[in-house]
Amino acid sequence: MRVDVDFDLCQGHAECQAEAPDWFTVGKGSEAKVRAKRGEIPDDQLADVKAAVKYCPTQALRLVGTRTPQE
Ligand code: SF4
Repeated sequence: MRVDVDFDLCQGHAECQAEAPDWFTVGKGSEAKVRAKRGEIPDDQLADVKAAVKYCPTQALRLVGTRTPQE
């Protein structure tokens, strides 16, 4: 599973960084945007990244690429 960022929606609130600091970094200033790691999210970080997706106030984060397709 990976995370996609919609940079048009991201407003730099940094909730994602608070939830998953190993995965997200947010710069300072009014133009701050998130920087997210690329690639497959390790199992031991998945819960934190899911929380970041859940609590992003602008819904700029999205999980993609589920390992087991849902029917
Ligand atoms: S919580 Fe959402 S809006 Fe805030 S920096 Fe992270 S991705 Fe951007």
